[in-house]
Amino acid sequence: MEEKLFEKSPDIEERIKYLAEKEEQTLIRIRRELHKVPETGVYLPKTYEIIRRELQKIPGVEVIEHAAEGYGLIGIMRGKLPDGKTVLLRADIDALPVEEPEGLPYRSEHPGCMHACGHDGHAAWLIGAARILSDIRDNWGGCVKFVFQPGEEVGKGATALIEKDQVLENPKVDMAFAAHGWPSVESGKIGIARRYAFGCVGGFSIKIMGKKGHASWPEETVDPIAAAIEIYQHMPSVLTKKISGTEAKVFSVTYMQAGDVKIHNVIPETCEFGGTMRAANMDVLKRMGKELEKEVRAVCHVAGAEYKADIRIHGGAVHNAVDLLEGTEKTAKGILGEDKVYFIEHDHLGGENFSEFSSRVPAVYLFIGIRPKEKEQIPGLHSAEYRFDDHVLKGAAGVFAALGYYGCMGILQKQEKGTGTEEWKK
Ligand SMILES: [Zn+2]
Ligand SMILES: [Zn+2]
Repeated sequence: MEEKLFEKSPDIEERIKYLAEKEEQTLIRIRRELHKVPETGVYLPKTYEIIRRELQKIPGVEVIEHAAEGYGLIGIMRGKLPDGKTVLLRADIDALPVEEPEGLPYRSEHPGCMHACGHDGHAAWLIGAARILSDIRDNWGGCVKFVFQPGEEVGKGATALIEKDQVLENPKVDMAFAAHGWPSVESGKIGIARRYAFGCVGGFSIKIMGKKGHASWPEETVDPIAAAIEIYQHMPSVLTKKISGTEAKVFSVTYMQAGDVKIHNVIPETCEFGGTMRAANMDVLKRMGKELEKEVRAVCHVAGAEYKADIRIHGGAVHNAVDLLEGTEKTAKGILGEDKVYFIEHDHLGGENFSEFSSRVPAVYLFIGIRPKEKEQIPGLHSAEYRFDDHVLKGAAGVFAALGYYGCMGILQKQEKGTGTEEWKK
């Protein structure tokens, strides 16, 4: 790439803001249309149809269909200037098996299925970014890949996009961005995590096989419930003693099943329980799995029970690339305003399939506020009462477009020679 000093472009930012404003009604229409036809998993034919139709309307977008082993889409757009970087912008597009209550004119038409995580909004703002970047294509060089990923909720789409569709190659992706509508952040604002946006995710399923018998003679049985409860109660202190207190971690049992509700006088043969483990650091997550296995083995040994333990790592953390943070912050401020973008100091350990991207290329994940200013709290993600705030679509589309623009122009990343990163310090 030509050594050239790029500057932050107030004219382009004004143009992006103007276009975002102009696109607002279109994006709301698209978001609500998607909201009506929520689909779960990787096969999202109706969602796919709408996004494909919208992408095909945009001048300069080449659509790659059936990505992610099914109904995912990739839109590729090249700027008209000769040189530039390649930026990947990703939206997840799948819904959840949640029944949407009555009320909205554009309520889900699919019984038992709802966009309760707001991915309809993610798809709409990414289409908005594509529309804006298309309009200013004369002003930038390089390539933007708009990735519409199915299967996020089931942890599936990203690996297929990367390994099967080679989305990070041809041209090679230099940086990636993704975002989620976030209930704890006020509408109109954006929060950026300083370190990690999401944690590493693991899960466990444990089955304890005891010896069933009459509840009046427990000495002739091996009680699997007692063993399971001992493990459940002991694990928090095991993790406190074996893993440094400075390491963020979560261990939660989410189910425990044993016996029959109608039978009060039999100690059952088996007890099964399982749940989730989270950590900021993959080594810590692996250590948690080992400690759990050791604990299960020890308790079962003393009780005289057998066990089966299935302990798995599901995905890594989403770490924000340090060298992109400042540029991302300034880009978002340029679109939304100086007081609208802030760093979130309290990290959390939710999971996100975007980790497959962020572990391979420098990436930043943004939390787009969706809590209307007048409300202190709104229903959380995945709840049937969750409501996406349509007012945020234009701002998010503008920020993604600006990240695409500045990313391609090579001034987002620090530490690069001759690309004008000094401009950010002004
Ligand atoms: Zn979700
Ligand atoms: Zn989500």
